[in-house]
Amino acid sequence: MTPDQLLALDRAHVWHPYGPMPGRSDPFVVEAAEGVRLRLGRPVEGRDELIDGMSSWWAAIHGYRHPVLDAAVTDQLGRMAHVMFGGLTHEPAVRLATRLVELTPEPLQHVFLADSGSVSVEVAAKMCLQYWSSRGRPEKHKLLTWRGGYHGDTFHPMSVCDPEGGMHHLWRGVLPRQVFADAPPDGFDRPLDPAYVAHLDALLARHAAESAAVIVEPVVQGAGGMRFHSPELLRVLRELCDAHELLLVFDEIATGFGRTGALFAADHAGVSPDVMCLGKALTGGYLTLAAALCTTEIAEGISGGAVPVLAHGPTFMGNPLACAVANASLDVLLGQDWRTEVKRIEAGLAEGLAPARELPGVKDVRVLGAIGVVQLDAEVDVPAAARAAAREGVWLRPFRDLVYTMPPYLTSDEDLATICRGVLAATATIV
Ligand code: PLP
Repeated sequence: MTPDQLLALDRAHVWHPYGPMPGRSDPFVVEAAEGVRLRLGRPVEGRDELIDGMSSWWAAIHGYRHPVLDAAVTDQLGRMAHVMFGGLTHEPAVRLATRLVELTPEPLQHVFLADSGSVSVEVAAKMCLQYWSSRGRPEKHKLLTWRGGYHGDTFHPMSVCDPEGGMHHLWRGVLPRQVFADAPPDGFDRPLDPAYVAHLDALLARHAAESAAVIVEPVVQGAGGMRFHSPELLRVLRELCDAHELLLVFDEIATGFGRTGALFAADHAGVSPDVMCLGKALTGGYLTLAAALCTTEIAEGISGGAVPVLAHGPTFMGNPLACAVANASLDVLLGQDWRTEVKRIEAGLAEGLAPARELPGVKDVRVLGAIGVVQLDAEVDVPAAARAAAREGVWLRPFRDLVYTMPPYLTSDEDLATICRGVLAATATIV
């Protein structure tokens, strides 16, 4: 198939994320990917190769075609690609679950292996609602969150996405009605704002009787606006949840596995949630897999209820290929000094993005771990901005008023400098 034929068929038949049908602008055709580079099937802006500034949406932390991850998939393929998880088990899943329990905060002891991040959030919500229902309090069924969040595209996750700026306002009328606090004050290093803490306390107190849990993205709100907040707030949330009889869920689907400079964002605060969702970089971006981890208190609460099972079981639950590559991804991550690598990326982004502060139309430039964000005064023209980055040899996917990057951890200093030039070029398209 020629690239032109491929694009014609793509336009006619294939939905893309958050896209219209038929599509309005042609996606770039990727033929292969290796290291941090995407090889294009048809040149864009004279480039047949782009450095990936997105890690395929937080996932490809080790880049592409990593020999250890490739070998893990091939090896597992020689045993079995998939087998149902009902009534059967296998070493890749058990090993992965055990390692996740060891790596995450100590109270998290039980692992549900879901097939996507959104499904893991659904499972987390079910765990919390069913826990209270099993304890004879079915009226505790709402979720509390703060504005500016993003938790996925199925119904419970959509219901806790930002209700105004978010992507799911179309569904407000039919989604479960949840409770929203104001967005957390911006700034990772910002001291706690007592007025905001009082606001959270009052809201939780008012709604605790009808609510099961608080769910938040710890430290970084991703697709809701790429905002950073103080880890201190997580400690406050833990205390408030305990005081008001609410469970606490951390959605670490984007932040997990080192992205913010800590293995999990919760580690910045030394706080354990009752449920933690993981996904994206769990498999190094190779295959779709997510996890919802919970405490023994929740597991035993559910098992002691009138329906003593968690009624959820996707066909591809615990997929052996995905679990095998997740184990390999952990081997690679933990087998290197990933903290130093993420710190190096943080320093490179801070230096390379600093000139954006001088550009007209730039509202804010912020960096945390391997995440760099330029926020603009106006909405960006996404195809134009992506092409401007491509001219510099970089793949970026800006959205709304944000041009941002979260590169693979093995990105060299030279490639990182190129990525920053791509961000600046994409930023300059709004003026
Ligand atoms: N939660 C967060 C914080 C996310 O960033 C995402 C995806 O971007 C999700 C949940 C949904 O994950 P998935 O796209 O795998 O369903």
